[in-house]
Amino acid sequence: MNHSFTGRPWLLYGLLTTSLSLNLYMVTHRAPTAALSADAVEIVQPASETTTIGPVTGTTRVPVEVVQPTQGEAKKVRVPIQRDVISSDPDWNILDEEVTHSLARTFSKADADKGAQLSAAYARLFHWDIDLRRDLRKGDQVRVAWKETDQGIEIAAASFKSGKLGQTLKAYRFQRRGDAYPSYWQENGSEITRRLKIDPLADYEMITALLRDRPGHDGMDFKVDVGTPILATRAGTVKRTNWNTRSNGNCVEVRFSDGTLAKYLHLSKTGVKPGQKVKLGQVLGESGNTGHSTAPHLHYQLNKGKRVLDPMDFHGITARAIQTGERDAFDSNVARLDALLGNALARR
Ligand SMILES: [Zn+2]
Repeated sequence: MNHSFTGRPWLLYGLLTTSLSLNLYMVTHRAPTAALSADAVEIVQPASETTTIGPVTGTTRVPVEVVQPTQGEAKKVRVPIQRDVISSDPDWNILDEEVTHSLARTFSKADADKGAQLSAAYARLFHWDIDLRRDLRKGDQVRVAWKETDQGIEIAAASFKSGKLGQTLKAYRFQRRGDAYPSYWQENGSEITRRLKIDPLADYEMITALLRDRPGHDGMDFKVDVGTPILATRAGTVKRTNWNTRSNGNCVEVRFSDGTLAKYLHLSKTGVKPGQKVKLGQVLGESGNTGHSTAPHLHYQLNKGKRVLDPMDFHGITARAIQTGERDAFDSNVARLDALLGNALARR
């Protein structure tokens, strides 16, 4: 079956039903042709335009594919259909709200059951760029695609239209090649969730608490699987291990040459002894869930004399970027997630 359409950009929003009929909503001025078979969409790709195919609503999903200009004559391009590319769970929840009062109240009004949890996860995504407790304005807009998993709230994509910043912040979930966990990225390919310039872990799922996020919380928490190597964040000497284990669990304290003490808590095991000299990046033990800890994580804390230091000031923070060679995969992921968020609007 063939459909024609005209105009630009070549944005083909396909609505694919189980009977595999294809409806294309188009505003275009020229006419590529699209045909749909059971496992692919075939288009005649113009020489000088970019075509985007997808996404699809309903029971079947088609990935957003960006087809580059052929730089010569128009030619036939076949784009395979994948089922359930967003998730094996077909339904992400979409929340799209204008901010009223606090963020937590806005989320809780929209979802009485999970609103508080979702609000915390959402605020954590954007706190690198804006303080959502302080800097909300009337007319600000939150939008988030999320679902509940065994691990808690998972966000696929989110945006925040900020009156204070005069722009819309966006975060897209994507797993960089070679990374152990997905992270959140801006559409330009830089990581929205920043990292310490020197981390106590080579990789982790997310930072779940910053210094002073909770009263009396004196460190940063990194959500990470049990058994992940813990790394010395500077050269120093191991001062003590496994003290106050009821609360700290297995733990290591390293004294840097400037007198700063670095504490690594809740480990599954320690691999160093008091008095031992360690180098930057040396493995001190493995992460765990011991002591006063309800989920696998590393608590990382810096003290100097009586002061608690913020690791973000001490080590500095940085934003990683998408690697070359991954850009196309990343861009199509962004387009797909944008469509997912946009689909919510169409349903309202
Ligand atoms: Zn902690």
